Amino acid sequence: MIYASAPGKINLFFEVGPLRPDGFHSVTSIYQSLAIRQRVGVTPAETWVVTTTGELPTEQLNLVPKGEENLVVIAAKKLAEFAGIEAQPMRFETIKQVPVAAGLAGGSADAAAALLALNEHWSLGVEMTELSEVAAKVGSDVPFALLGGTALGVDTGIELERLSDMPTKHIVLLVSPHGLGTKEVFGEFDRLSPNGEMSLSPEEAKAALSNGTLPIGKNALWGPAVDLRPELAQYAGLVSGQQGFLTGSGPTLYFLTDTKEQADEVAAKLSDLGHFTISTQTDQVGARLD
Ligand code: ATP
Repeated sequence: MIYASAPGKINLFFEVGPLRPDGFHSVTSIYQSLAIRQRVGVTPAETWVVTTTGELPTEQLNLVPKGEENLVVIAAKKLAEFAGIEAQPMRFETIKQVPVAAGLAGGSADAAAALLALNEHWSLGVEMTELSEVAAKVGSDVPFALLGGTALGVDTGIELERLSDMPTKHIVLLVSPHGLGTKEVFGEFDRLSPNGEMSLSPEEAKAALSNGTLPIGKNALWGPAVDLRPELAQYAGLVSGQQGFLTGSGPTLYFLTDTKEQADEVAAKLSDLGHFTISTQTDQVGARLD
């Protein structure tokens, strides 16, 4: 079996513009990849099949489709179409560290890893820039899962510019037992602010990141997510002196600290309050063959 892996992500900054005629929003996103990764193995099979394992609660793993609706199968078919070959059914073994429907791009990371593994297995030799175009057809966060690091994303998030690596930060993820659908949160965004506007241009966001003035954790989906999950507002303030921020469309909150000791204290406090947490750190490695 050929294996590849790709990272989960957080959004250090996320702004959403008005709805476009194609039904998507323009966004300005500063992405940051994490040390938690999805691993995907591929091998030929009679039919398309996806198995999912990992150190996540069973109710999370049960949310993942086992057949052709899984993003790894969608990615495989898009890659075969791009390469002009017939898509042979494959068996995918997915091993997850990234929670499902959490705003951490777990499914997107699976898809990115699948693209890399299949490019190798099918001996396609598709270059990274083209693989990124195929990735964009699978989902907005898939190109970033391929690239990794710290990056500016514009358009729907698919036009990426890699930025200077951030100094390593420690991250505690507060994971909700029930996922939140990206479509649902954007629907609420449209209801609340049909003329969505951005406070910073992409260039301004980039400059602000490099001179330390970027409002880390600012996320235009915060209001809509809290409307749908009011408890998030309370969770964000559970640790005194440490604000929790929403990643993507949530519902995961991240707490960002400079040292592992501080992160351990945050994680202990949240666990004592009965929350499921994952401790990780920022990491600059994108998708790779394992
Ligand atoms: P993103 O941040 O990319 O919008 P997310 O991290 O919020 O995504 P995912 O973990 O990608 O959410 O899952 C969203 C939904 O996609 C799931 O509820 C599931 O039905 C579907 N899905 C399809 N393929 C996968 C996959 N390989 N892993 C997880 N979910 C998948």
